[in-house]
Amino acid sequence: MDQEHIRNFCIIAHIDHGKSTLADRFLELTQTIEKRKMKDQVLDQMDLEREKGITIKMQPVRMNYQGYVLNLIDTPGHVDFSYEVSRSLAAVEGAILLVDATKGVQAQTLANLSLATKQGLVIIPVVNKIDSPLAKTKEVAKEVARLLRVEEEDVFRISAKEGTGVEELLQSVIVRVPPSQGNGEAPLRALIFDSLYDSFRGIVAYVRIVDGIVKANEKISFLTTKAAGSVKEVGHFLPSEHPAESLRAGEIGYVATGLKEAEQVRIGDTITAQKKATVNPLAGYETPKPMVFASLYPQDIDDFDALKSALSQLKLNDPSFSFELESKEALGRGFRCGFLGVLHSEIIAERIQREFAIEIVISRPSVEFYITTEKGESLSVKTPTDWPDEGKILEIKEPWARLEIIVPRDFFPQISQLVLVSGGFSTAVTDLGEERLLCTFEIPLRQVIADLYDKLKSVSQGMASMDYEILSWRSADLVKLEIWTARENQDALSVVVPRKDAYKEGKAIVEKLKNTLPPQLFEVALQAVADGRIIARETLKAQRRDVTGALYGGDVTRKKKLLERQKKGKKELKAKGNVVIPSKVFLELFRS
Ligand code: GDP
Ligand code: MG
Repeated sequence: MDQEHIRNFCIIAHIDHGKSTLADRFLELTQTIEKRKMKDQVLDQMDLEREKGITIKMQPVRMNYQGYVLNLIDTPGHVDFSYEVSRSLAAVEGAILLVDATKGVQAQTLANLSLATKQGLVIIPVVNKIDSPLAKTKEVAKEVARLLRVEEEDVFRISAKEGTGVEELLQSVIVRVPPSQGNGEAPLRALIFDSLYDSFRGIVAYVRIVDGIVKANEKISFLTTKAAGSVKEVGHFLPSEHPAESLRAGEIGYVATGLKEAEQVRIGDTITAQKKATVNPLAGYETPKPMVFASLYPQDIDDFDALKSALSQLKLNDPSFSFELESKEALGRGFRCGFLGVLHSEIIAERIQREFAIEIVISRPSVEFYITTEKGESLSVKTPTDWPDEGKILEIKEPWARLEIIVPRDFFPQISQLVLVSGGFSTAVTDLGEERLLCTFEIPLRQVIADLYDKLKSVSQGMASMDYEILSWRSADLVKLEIWTARENQDALSVVVPRKDAYKEGKAIVEKLKNTLPPQLFEVALQAVADGRIIARETLKAQRRDVTGALYGGDVTRKKKLLERQKKGKKELKAKGNVVIPSKVFLELFRS
């Protein structure tokens, strides 16, 4: 197919505005998927996506329509997956910007629009769900027109559910989205925008061919990683993989590389032909820096190696998370992982359990801190275990975020109050029209990743949407809270909290510990310690275990003997002073 007849585009929108449903209609219209095989949100191929009703991975698909090849990439909408979106955007020339007629422009609409504009994409504005009785089609079209500085009539009005207006929209993609400008005669340059592990064909790279052509059995090399391989197979996404003879400039497809090492095939790298003259690498992407950290441990220590291999395979598919070895006495060997956000961490944890059948525990996510010590060292602290002694700390810095919230005017006071009590402040309020405000705040990232989103939804009756980006590192007054059982520090349970909240948090943890720990043979002090001082305490009462219960009748001497032995045991235990916390209790506390 010549480039003139290829159009590459994606659909961007806030979560739930109908991207995957619109993609379904396109697939039907172009008869890419047979009617009997069609199901709702067919491009959401992972079980997890179908269950949660959200798109997590981008998914490319190739459609034939009226003599054109249309390559569509469906993208996720949640803020944690904007890296997936930015990679899709770099592989296309146009974007359909979808806005829900019942909701209007939301925080992610703005965020994705700004990504697309930066890439220089042609944007086709669309209002979706016009069939809904709650649709405010005219107002929302006006809002979108104002945002994009276009005429109201230029905004498409469709129902992705019922198919209204979908055909005209697809035709406008052909007219408005420009064909790619690559050079079909030049040496091969292909941008890797995603990849997948396949045990038979090696790592499969999802590519956009910018220049040249690639065929099976050709020798290829990778500009950044310097890896070299031989193409096992090339093909298109229909949306499942279909082998093809070649992939040419302007096309989107896959290249099975035969390579097995995850490090060799890197997203953002350029594939070129081995024998050809030197070519310049394509721009690629900046991999986002993980900002949220959590520890992952296998439930069963024998699963450690399997977990390690699962993490490296998942990283192929999602280079935005990181992992490094960590070990805690109480939990064994595990990994400290970096994520883009909390949903991201939950999704990775779920994928490990489902796709690799490894039961794991994940700790409460935390941000990274920069600490300057009295000696002048700077430390990056991603887990409370690495927290230096209080006396050695000169300054602590934590990441702050810029938070954008779109909300109906009436809820502004509640939203402001919520941000204020979370340690943030307001920087700007813009009128979006239609009684809605775009509010900008600055707030510690620590609060954003706690449960800000849930609180925001509840104080705004589900009407508010939010987006955030990292701003800067700022001074913070924080303290490490240790949990001691029988005067022994259980370091896996340590948390970092604002100094002013240390008492409240410490009390909550020891109370929870008291309620989850099984009875012990002797009295156990449960203490929360900050700054070397005990700030909260609970006592787990000794419980007399009826060791004689199993004895019938009146053998008094045996009974005595048993009780005697029990007493001695208790004494010994107390002398040793250690409580063995069952791993189940440990995991429970570690998690929350
Ligand atoms: P995505 O998160 O943007 O991919 O959104 P989905 O395609 O998963 O759709 C989110 C929800 O909106 C689903 O329950 C859809 O059935 C519903 N939906 C999508 N398009 C329409 C539409 O045109 N009209 C109505 N009434 N509902 C729609
Ligand atoms: Mg979707």
